[in-house]
Amino acid sequence: MATDGGAPALLLDSVVKTYGAIRAVDGVSFTAAPGEFIALLGPNGAGKTTLFQLLSGLFVPDSGQIEIMGHDMLRDPVPALAKLGIVFQQPTLDLELTVTGNLLFHAGLHGISRAVAKPRIEAELKRLGLAERAQDKAAQLSGGNRRRVELARALLHAPRVLLMDEATVGLDPASRGDLLKLILTMRAERSVAVLWATHLCDEVADADRVIVLHRGKVLADTTPARFVKDAGAATVEQAFLAITAATAA
Ligand code: ATP
Repeated sequence: MATDGGAPALLLDSVVKTYGAIRAVDGVSFTAAPGEFIALLGPNGAGKTTLFQLLSGLFVPDSGQIEIMGHDMLRDPVPALAKLGIVFQQPTLDLELTVTGNLLFHAGLHGISRAVAKPRIEAELKRLGLAERAQDKAAQLSGGNRRRVELARALLHAPRVLLMDEATVGLDPASRGDLLKLILTMRAERSVAVLWATHLCDEVADADRVIVLHRGKVLADTTPARFVKDAGAATVEQAFLAITAATAA
């Protein structure tokens, strides 16, 4: 059986997911190394959310293989999912619970005792600049701070792979930038691989790699600088428009 030792943080091999005639994810393969920040760039309908649903075990692929830290999602889902943290596109905090209450609830779901969870929660909130808000109801927080709480929640069980699904949707530019900076620092400190799904080209520049997903297929998997150069473009946005236009039906 596969173990954590030496395995990529994330491995996808020829992953396919269809909805009737729609090939939402169409033969996707890539790996992520521990600590790598990968921007998954794709327009609406590219298949990003479907891919995340497969990675988080909500759906099963029609074919192909997914491994998290060497654990196969189908054969070995418990250790695979234990290594995974997720911030979903849709906000998922219980607004009537306090910040700490939300985090304790999640810790319980992961089998983390309150005695272990409490100091972890305090430490995470402090790192994210939310120590003073621990006893506030989630409803009292700004959108940016709610996202930070969701990030703290995703990190509580010390995952090695973090999925962020369009996590900056609805945030103002300053909050978007702050969140991105936090993630970049965090993944380096903790050696957590991050898959950052976005349709916003300006969120790609600081990524180690950019994977362009379009109509379920990977059109590019390279560094942001190389992506721009290979397309003969001046910006990520120009390169993205060129590559997606070239594959338009
Ligand atoms: P967005 O940024 O708009 O969320 P996305 O890149 O996350 O887009 P998906 O939501 O994964 O893309 O959708 C990929 C394709 O699969 C689209 O054509 C979409 O209409 C289709 N699709 C997604 N979920 C379903 C479903 N439950 N039933 C049928 N088709 C679906």
